[in-house]
Amino acid sequence: MKTALITGITGQDGSYLAEFLLTRGYAVHGIVRRATTEDAAKMANLAACKERVDLHVGSLDNYQFLRKTIEQAGPTECYHFASPSFVNYSLDDEISTFNESFCATHALVSALSECTPGCRLYYAGSSEMFGQTVASPQNEDTPLNPRSIYGIAKVAGYHLVRNYRDNQGFFVATGFLYNHESPRRRPEFVTRKITSTVARIKLGLEKTLTLGALDAERDWGYAPEYVQAAWRMLQQDRPGDYVIATGATHTVRTFLTHAFGHVGLRYEDHVRFDPRFFRPPEKVVLCGNTAKAVRLLDWHPCKPLAEIAAEMVEHDLSLVRR
Ligand code: GDP
Repeated sequence: MKTALITGITGQDGSYLAEFLLTRGYAVHGIVRRATTEDAAKMANLAACKERVDLHVGSLDNYQFLRKTIEQAGPTECYHFASPSFVNYSLDDEISTFNESFCATHALVSALSECTPGCRLYYAGSSEMFGQTVASPQNEDTPLNPRSIYGIAKVAGYHLVRNYRDNQGFFVATGFLYNHESPRRRPEFVTRKITSTVARIKLGLEKTLTLGALDAERDWGYAPEYVQAAWRMLQQDRPGDYVIATGATHTVRTFLTHAFGHVGLRYEDHVRFDPRFFRPPEKVVLCGNTAKAVRLLDWHPCKPLAEIAAEMVEHDLSLVRR
């Protein structure tokens, strides 16, 4: 039986992947912090599968805990999603963000290669690793030029896991995942901020939505499809790195049009500019070239942005009604 260990299992990606792997007959284990288990809101993403996954409560910075968990679970595949994932440009504590992200990756890959050397590891990379890029669209050979501490930590982790692959033959695949949204997206991200406020406006609890740059562009995809790409990477004969994206960018304004339009409203009647949310636009837009993923993984993004927005708004409407 295939056995998966997922770090960050309560997050958007971890929880969708857990559900997907269960449908494929995997035994699924997840690592969760104690504080997370005590917070019902943070456990909500696991509502559909909590009874069918084995949760190991502890922290990725505890090496003994990691080794014990790996020995107990005996994973054949490990998906490393856990990381401080909200990208900001004035992080209060850059040092702990970097350390938390990098040290967790280091401890995990080291413990896996010692305890279960045949296990395959998926490393969750990000389009933020390309950062202030000069080329668009980006592919697996585009130079990495991160502009945030999050991106820098991801790049450092990427070089680390590649070294385990190149020097020890450990099977590691990295996905350079572009923004991917869903009803489980955290509310700090602009899409979820929009859909949760649209729901409140529609139900009369709010009148306005304050945002920064409406012309900012992102290559937005659908999270449940993106975690399947991660799984496909670990089913290959050889380990490799892949850009996972839609290959098309849309503006915040377009997302607003879809989200407000879904409930019969016009965003122009409700959206106000707030400089606190303004970030200078990227010089070159982050947009992924997925030719390699299409060719080798037979992976294709399917769900259009309008449908993603509609699903998110419907979910937020049901949350507000509750
Ligand atoms: P990320 O920047 O790729 O991590 O994703 P976000 O969802 O945080 O932001 C996407 C884009 O939306 C960025 O270019 C932001 O500048 C823009 N944006 C405009 N208004 C807002 C806002 O109020 N909150 C956030 N998070 N982003 C905003």
